[in-house]
Amino acid sequence: KIILGIESSCDDTSAAVFKNNINLSNVIASQKVHQAYGGVVPELASRAHQQNIVPVVHQALKEARLQLNDLDAIAYTKGPGLLGSLLVGASFAKSLAYALNIPLIEVNHMQAHILAHFIDDEIQKAPDFPFLGVTISGGHTQIVKVKHYFDMEVIGETLDDAIGEAYDKCGKMLGLDYPAGPQIDQLARLGNPHQFQFSKPKVSDLNFSFSGLKTAVLYFLQREHQKNSAFIQENLNDICASFQYTVVQILMDKIFKAVKQTGIKNVAIGGGVSANSAIRKALLQAEEKGKIRAFIPKFEYCTDNAGMIAVVGYYSLLQNRKANTPTGAKARLHLNQL
Ligand code: ATP
Ligand code: FE
Repeated sequence: KIILGIESSCDDTSAAVFKNNINLSNVIASQKVHQAYGGVVPELASRAHQQNIVPVVHQALKEARLQLNDLDAIAYTKGPGLLGSLLVGASFAKSLAYALNIPLIEVNHMQAHILAHFIDDEIQKAPDFPFLGVTISGGHTQIVKVKHYFDMEVIGETLDDAIGEAYDKCGKMLGLDYPAGPQIDQLARLGNPHQFQFSKPKVSDLNFSFSGLKTAVLYFLQREHQKNSAFIQENLNDICASFQYTVVQILMDKIFKAVKQTGIKNVAIGGGVSANSAIRKALLQAEEKGKIRAFIPKFEYCTDNAGMIAVVGYYSLLQNRKANTPTGAKARLHLNQL
């Protein structure tokens, strides 16, 4: 089956063409307009999606060397995400499926971040069921017990900020551009992770909290700034390394706890923050010690991309899951919806 995937939940407009679970093309247009504002501006995102969607779909078809008539189904992100952004992808996908008279498949974006592991690619291997999906992104931080493709249960999540949000907000305090995650990751490589200590939150069960860490960093920077106004400039690498060290500790503690609690050793990370080099390293080290089996997606499939939407479309088709009419977009969508 040839499937067109459409993703427009936040600030990336993406279209992918897949043959079953094989990537023929995966085109991503990242919106630059938001950088000046230090975060995604929903109204601007929606407008940029409108401008990008047609050229991005054309490009995806061109790279796959296929035409609209070759498509067997269209899969699109129904939610969760920014409503104005989702609506652009949803309306486009709906109209095109209707015009071509082919099935339309609704995809849950958070399921897609997890099922991205099933994209058939030499560089990544798919985990066996059951596994623990650890979704770490700009809007979510979840530990998910994945029993089957569409049988998932959230067993832990953040009570406040998402892990990517913590990166982006700390980056903002340090004067870095949005999104700050990749820059902090880079800067941390040259820093000493033990130079500064930030306390870890005390959250019970498998849940997370990142807002306390954010506040701790803020007060710390304010205090040091009073003593030395060039503090950030002079210590940027060490601050980033120490912050990242704390985040990785928080995450790994919960992963080990989840493994112990469920007896499931397969740990598959997903979402934009899974591109982080320190997190990848910590997982591989844990694997070497035999504590877990780590599944780490290819970079291309970590951040928002339509490839992960197309692959969910493929598994949906296999299980005969198609969209009922009427369908559309939903800003808040629980992991088990769809
Ligand atoms: P959600 O999937 O929850 O709706 P989103 O789609 O906005 O949120 P993603 O695109 O999956 O999120 O991820 C974006 C986030 O990933 C940003 O917060 C960004 O800073 C972070 N990120 C990307 N690369 C890295 C990295 N190397 N280290 C840390 N964070 C990173
Ligand atoms: Fe995402």
